[in-house]
Amino acid sequence: VFEQPDLNALMALGKDAWLECLAAIDGIEPPQLRASGATLSEVELEARLPFAASDFVDFYASRHHAARAGQLMRPGAQLPEAWPFLPLGYHSRASSIIASGEPVRRPWGQFVLQNGPSGDRPTYAPTRKLDFELELGFVVGTPSDGGPVSPERAMDHVFGIVLLNDWSARDIQALEGRPLGPFLGKAFATSISNWVVPLEALKTRRVPIEPQTPPPLPHLLGAEPAMSFDLELTAQIVTARSPEPQILCRTNARHLYWSMEQHVAHLTSGGARLRTGDLLGTGTISGPEPDARACMLELSENGERPVLLAGGDERGYLHDGDEVIISGEGLGTLRNRILAASPEVATP
Ligand code: CA
Repeated sequence: VFEQPDLNALMALGKDAWLECLAAIDGIEPPQLRASGATLSEVELEARLPFAASDFVDFYASRHHAARAGQLMRPGAQLPEAWPFLPLGYHSRASSIIASGEPVRRPWGQFVLQNGPSGDRPTYAPTRKLDFELELGFVVGTPSDGGPVSPERAMDHVFGIVLLNDWSARDIQALEGRPLGPFLGKAFATSISNWVVPLEALKTRRVPIEPQTPPPLPHLLGAEPAMSFDLELTAQIVTARSPEPQILCRTNARHLYWSMEQHVAHLTSGGARLRTGDLLGTGTISGPEPDARACMLELSENGERPVLLAGGDERGYLHDGDEVIISGEGLGTLRNRILAASPEVATP
């Protein structure tokens, strides 16, 4: 399995093999590092995906994000009725997943331009509201057979965690999203870190989840207390004007309302099968504090209050040439730069 171009074959072997592998490589230094005396971060590495993604589901597991983003996209909106009962999510596209280091091209799409020449009619143009979303992704190793996976068994199926940026075009999303949810507004790029950190390596970072009120139904509640991860996460921006990274937000995975185990239990509770390489996004990990808002939609209140940056720069949404860097304690970094939209498509 180590001769394969990605981790899928190793991930498919199951938890006993993962633990055996971790024990065997513990303390081994790659020879090229030992020879040069460099650290891993100093060696030139090729940007590539660590596994081949089978399916991609994105959840909505931060109550802070769901409440704020819901209000900003649809003023007056309450949390969806189902929100406290199950982890809401949607099926996205595995083909949108790209590696850290790959550029993100500004997408074209349909949206209504406020005070534009078309009035209330949509226009087809490059998005004016390009956004990032700071998330974690859970990577499935062991497949399931269509039966429900209980919260107690979920960790047998999840191999590890990646940093995830769910790139979003808010204007495209706003027009197309009702009632079926995001479609092309999130189908152009989702970037993940080049490393999958095994769950086993994060065992000491588990902390009790914030109280769930009302308690979930028994098949999601499980027999053991639901746990989150105490992992500090940051998003930074590098602009053309300021090459030094500037902090956009600081948050923590402990703010998630639903646990990883509950996501897996919910996804499989109706008969969906897990496949090796499935990627389960947590949704934007916003916290309660103002600087823990983990996307531009929340940070700039949908562009109404631009974020002030060094040198007089400001951002409502992201500009071409901006680079977004997401970092997590023990999880490495994930960075992608924005490319200008493709030239206008010739229309008859
Ligand atoms: Ca998302």
